[in-house]
Amino acid sequence: MPQPLREESQTIRTTIPSSGNREHSSSIYMTSSFSFENAEQARATFAKEISGNIYSRYSNPSVDEFIAKMCILEECEDGVAVASGMSAVFTGMASLLETGDHVLASRSVFGSTHQILTQVLPKWDISHSYAPIKKPEVWESLIQPNTRLCYVETPSNPALDLIDLDWLSSLCKKHNVLLYVDNIFATPILQKPVRHGADLVMHSATKYIDGQGRGIGGIILGKKDLIEKVRFFAKHTGPCLSPFNGWMFSKSLELLHVRIERHAKNALQLAQFLETRPDVQTVKYPHLPSHPQFDLAKRQMKMGGGVVTFIVEGGLERGRRFLDALKMSSLTANLGDSRTIATHPASTTHSSLTEEDRQAVGIMPGLIRVSVGLEHIDDIIGDIQHALDNSKA
Ligand SMILES: *Cc1c(COP(=O)(O)O)cnc(C)c1O
Repeated sequence: MPQPLREESQTIRTTIPSSGNREHSSSIYMTSSFSFENAEQARATFAKEISGNIYSRYSNPSVDEFIAKMCILEECEDGVAVASGMSAVFTGMASLLETGDHVLASRSVFGSTHQILTQVLPKWDISHSYAPIKKPEVWESLIQPNTRLCYVETPSNPALDLIDLDWLSSLCKKHNVLLYVDNIFATPILQKPVRHGADLVMHSATKYIDGQGRGIGGIILGKKDLIEKVRFFAKHTGPCLSPFNGWMFSKSLELLHVRIERHAKNALQLAQFLETRPDVQTVKYPHLPSHPQFDLAKRQMKMGGGVVTFIVEGGLERGRRFLDALKMSSLTANLGDSRTIATHPASTTHSSLTEEDRQAVGIMPGLIRVSVGLEHIDDIIGDIQHALDNSKA
């Protein structure tokens, strides 16, 4: 038996100890607290002289199994699971930032992350600057003496622009800034930010980690000393993940490698099909040779991921007609599901931005984002083709 097991096998074989009933699939620990055998065990557990669960806001075995697998996948020492992806963004930032600190963020961050940076953190006098993703040459000039954290998503949503993490992590190290990466779009199967120098990684488990659109959750991963601070904050402020969702996400991880490879294979084929359509202006997919950062994508991501974006000719109205003409794909705000999902960011997720702000992050009126699912590729392409053919003016 080769030791240690390979990543795929560890993701499947890592389990919490049996409850004593010889169950093969881990049981779910639906308990708010854990009882002690005697007063001495209670005292020693609270005093941390012995390890053990106390209360599910602090730790729970079903959640711990999920964390253990995610640590393997992201090659991180430790992690804290929380109730949503946004809770991961906020808990990570709130744990590590002090009043007066400054955050450098890529301009193309998720909508609610933008709200945290612009509306929530300023309450504690924590400021931010946005760095344009396509102009890496200006990033260094945006670092201030009080810059403590740099927060980025790569590939970005929905424009699928990439950030060179090797470059950014050396810039951050030079200025003693922590690098915090949202790895939701790539997943650890395709990209491991810590290998490129990131200090912290976050996920919305809601997306590819669950992969079936069933539940909300998140996780923050990194080195032990940083995660200790995050754990302290989470333990006492209470954004804990439910044991049921921890169990569900852990089971989902058993299929993550297989699922992501198929998502990415289907997505590449859809992207290649879209490039043949004369009524599609631009197709963006990291592993298409036409992607402006194709070389970086090949270096940084094992495959191109499960999301494809394209711009239909005919602008906003055509984009909306295209969605209405789909027969199989779902219209919903989620992504990373086994079901193909199409969204029109300009009229939905990004409609609150000004036209100028949308342009700045690459959201053109006719932009369509497809989270490519696990249906048969011919059915996925067939649905998109049918909708393109039936949405012309
Ligand atoms: C969904 C998402 C989040 C937020 O995750 P929730 O689980 O919905 O809170 C953050 N960043 C990106 C890129 C996302 O796609």
